[in-house]
Amino acid sequence: MNTKENTTQLLAQLNQFTRRVHQEDEVFLFDVHLCDNEIDRDGERFSLEALEELKTLFVGRTGIFDHNPKGENQTARIFATELVQESERRTAAGEPYTYLKGNAYMVRTDANRDLIREIDGGIKKEVSISCTAASCTCSVCGADCRKSPCVHQAGLTYGGILCHHVLSNITDAYEWSFVAVPAQREAGVTKQFGTDGTKGRCQALEKQLRAKDALLAQAESMVREDIVRLRFLTEGAAEQDAVSAAAARMTLPELLEFRETLRTKQAKQCRGQLPDGQRFAAENAAFQVKAGGVSGE
Ligand SMILES: [Zn+2]
Repeated sequence: MNTKENTTQLLAQLNQFTRRVHQEDEVFLFDVHLCDNEIDRDGERFSLEALEELKTLFVGRTGIFDHNPKGENQTARIFATELVQESERRTAAGEPYTYLKGNAYMVRTDANRDLIREIDGGIKKEVSISCTAASCTCSVCGADCRKSPCVHQAGLTYGGILCHHVLSNITDAYEWSFVAVPAQREAGVTKQFGTDGTKGRCQALEKQLRAKDALLAQAESMVREDIVRLRFLTEGAAEQDAVSAAAARMTLPELLEFRETLRTKQAKQCRGQLPDGQRFAAENAAFQVKAGGVSGE
């Protein structure tokens, strides 16, 4: 629980971060334990330098909630980070236990009231993060785990040294998320990525793919609109007919080809039979079609 003084200080920090000044009752402030330097169940750990890098990278990152990742107002954001060292506690690798704390906030709305209650009540404690680590080395021999894997196996001890993989040189951090915690399980951190930062990369790729899909859908709908206009101009066709229905099922290359055919047809008509007024309208429409069409022609 935050003390009054602490809250005031956090609010000042938050307001430096946001465009608008938030009052205390408008926002819900809470801490998240993002990650630490303890060896995890995959036999990996972050180096202290990696935690420093993550400390910078996580500022401004959005957090999502597993049950409703796309929901409105169901996101939190980190506005400040801090490395907390528990000097009396040692990690399995013998370092002072250090964790990355994030100060997160949510703007209170009717929609997230229950969610806030859950977080406040400690139900949602576990956070998973994804990031990309450019470096992964063996704690025994220092070999690069990806480029030149060695014989040492994580979890086994060699000459008194517990083998594990040290992740460092963090190049990017992505969204963090709250994961549902089964009651009996100890709260902690689930780091979601493999030795090569696959998870982080996959997320980045997924994002790119989603963006591309959206762009493609947009391009298709623009070409479809062009086709409707061109068919109206060249054939006087109404929007809803069998050809339109067929066009609705066409792929982008098919649509582009169809549009080209219609354009040629229209160009011929413009040159030939149309009276001046109509020709102007047709040419003007052709110009609009061009302006609104997809690029790459
Ligand atoms: Zn090794």
